[in-house]
Amino acid sequence: MNNVVGRFAPSPSGRMHLGNVFAALLSWLSVRSQGGELILRIEDLDPDRCKGAYIETLKEDLRWLGLTWDREQTPQSRRSAAYAEAFARLESRGLVYPCYCSRTELHAASAPHAADGQVIYAGTCRNLSPGQRAAKTKPPAWRLAVPDQVWAVEDGLQGHYEENLARNCGDFIIRRADGVYAYQLAVVVDDAAGGVTEVVRGMDLLSSTPRQLYLYHLLGLTPPRFTHVPLLLSPDGRRLSKRDRDLDLGVLRQSRKPEDILGLLAHWAGLLPAPEAISAQELIPMFDWALVPREAVTVGGNG
Ligand code: GLU
Repeated sequence: MNNVVGRFAPSPSGRMHLGNVFAALLSWLSVRSQGGELILRIEDLDPDRCKGAYIETLKEDLRWLGLTWDREQTPQSRRSAAYAEAFARLESRGLVYPCYCSRTELHAASAPHAADGQVIYAGTCRNLSPGQRAAKTKPPAWRLAVPDQVWAVEDGLQGHYEENLARNCGDFIIRRADGVYAYQLAVVVDDAAGGVTEVVRGMDLLSSTPRQLYLYHLLGLTPPRFTHVPLLLSPDGRRLSKRDRDLDLGVLRQSRKPEDILGLLAHWAGLLPAPEAISAQELIPMFDWALVPREAVTVGGNG
């Protein structure tokens, strides 16, 4: 065993759809083809969106596909002490401030994030005086003050991607007003704690990577290598989402074998010229990042 460590980090907010499985398959193949170790981490951070019942289904779906893992990390819902410790370190350096803006105020005062349509925070609460803070009555969200500085990633598939955090992103939330730590902080703390050396995930998270690199830097942690894989699009151009029940595993498993689904995904990944039944194990020697497309893949409505 060498020291390559990868991970699956699914959120139990619904049944996995083919886009989730596509990213999981590619992270599995990348690690397995290097003889590395794979971690499963349940990202059940958001109590409003995640349901315990989906956790077992997720694991069962991965096992059914033959996408095995070597160890499981503590689910995020039980890691708040570790996130609180990282948060306290940032706060003690004066890098974190409370934000009282409502959703409406945010949208009125902010420009959209260049890459993902999120708003760029205008900095409204950054320089409130202690008196102004004391006068607020609602619990604040907590933002990380970002520098006017470029953070760049050399992505395994997408190449160079950079953002000036102040201009393209803005101060971002690391702890919500309800006390839940934000994904951006949790993912950095957990990947570092797990000794993760490579992150393979969906392209929708490329634009989060400069924020995460900045957090790695502030916390004195070593970032992994990142590879962002294409999203799967439905024929009308929408990204598959957990609401698109037609391409989720619950529906697909009624009529397909794991090998059928893997063959389809391997075809979309450029590993097979046409879909044909194949097991996850059989795909390992065929795996090569050079074959995997960079751009989103449009897939048929009936799979
Ligand atoms: N939990 C995220 C998801 O299910 C993945 C986060 C990550 O890979 O960094 O989409």
